[in-house]
Amino acid sequence: MSGAGQPDLATRFRRLIRIDGPMPVARFMGESNSLYYASRDPMGASGDFVTAPEISQMFGEIIGLWLADVWQRAGAPGDAAYVELGPGRGTLTQDALRAMAQHGLEPEVYLVEGSPALREAQARAVPQARFPDDVASLPEHRPLMLVANEFLDALPIRQLVKTQSGWRERMVGLDGDSFVFVAGANPMDGAVPERFADCADGTVIETCPGAAALVEDVAMRLANQGGAALFIDYGRLEARSGSTLQAVRAHKKVDALVMPGEADLTAHVDFEMLAAIAGQSGLTVQIATQGEWLGAMGIGLRAQALSRSQPARRNEIAAAHDRLVSPEEMGELFKVMGLTGGGWPPGAGFGA
Ligand code: SAH
Repeated sequence: MSGAGQPDLATRFRRLIRIDGPMPVARFMGESNSLYYASRDPMGASGDFVTAPEISQMFGEIIGLWLADVWQRAGAPGDAAYVELGPGRGTLTQDALRAMAQHGLEPEVYLVEGSPALREAQARAVPQARFPDDVASLPEHRPLMLVANEFLDALPIRQLVKTQSGWRERMVGLDGDSFVFVAGANPMDGAVPERFADCADGTVIETCPGAAALVEDVAMRLANQGGAALFIDYGRLEARSGSTLQAVRAHKKVDALVMPGEADLTAHVDFEMLAAIAGQSGLTVQIATQGEWLGAMGIGLRAQALSRSQPARRNEIAAAHDRLVSPEEMGELFKVMGLTGGGWPPGAGFGA
């Protein structure tokens, strides 16, 4: 049992599955993550995982610089608003706002956050922030400068699995008391893209309907209202088959089904699909690896300048720089997708 006499999520899931049968992976992931984020601050050394803004202030500063640059080239509209999705502790927000202010950009701040615990942390870090419930509640007649770091990977994915009798939704069922993957009962062949039609039995493919809907919403707003967005996440540039569902707890990968609500469940982001969706709204879509983009935005020089002003932290700054850009660490797995539209010019750092 957890707080207030509620049965814990694993117990509730077992009860549900025994009554209704297996549940879709998307529901298992969605409910697990709602509980997971609602009840804790998972970031940092003492938590479950460390994100780029928690590694170094340079990350948020460069994002602020990118926004200030594109804002200036868009004619410096005074009513442009800063929006962040899933801001965690508000660290990126603080670093980006400080960098933007140095370039004369001091926007109103809108933070979209589902977790009450993290909302509190964000309100402490950024006292002037407003907290709309969702993207639909953002202001409608002003340009938006939107940032989402490691947000899309936490949205629930839907998985399909190829069986001897065709494609089925991948579900979570029970073997005794243990959660196991099983194939659903209904044929799903109609939902499978052509290129996956002939895959071997056992192949898993996944989609993230929530990410697709969100990027479409944001893209339409940027096209209508003007503005720029950066989506940064780990993921692939070309859709592939295979499950990428993973769980992380105390900095270690754990079985995704073992502790619902107690570990962070994520999946790789399908940037190919998201880029196509944004492109359909007529936006400029630019994609680079995190390492390429941070490099092009001048993180090397920023690291040198920081080291000069804080010589005692030289090694720490160099290590943080490596972690963010080196291909063996976050540099290649993480991708940056820049979107601009509604009269705003393409952003910097993505090459020609
Ligand atoms: N951007 C931060 C935090 C990443 S963790 C950083 O880089 O450090 C994921 C963040 O998204 C958390 O703040 C989490 O509470 C939030 N989140 C996850 N799913 C959400 C949802 N469906 N709606 C709103 N916020 C969500």
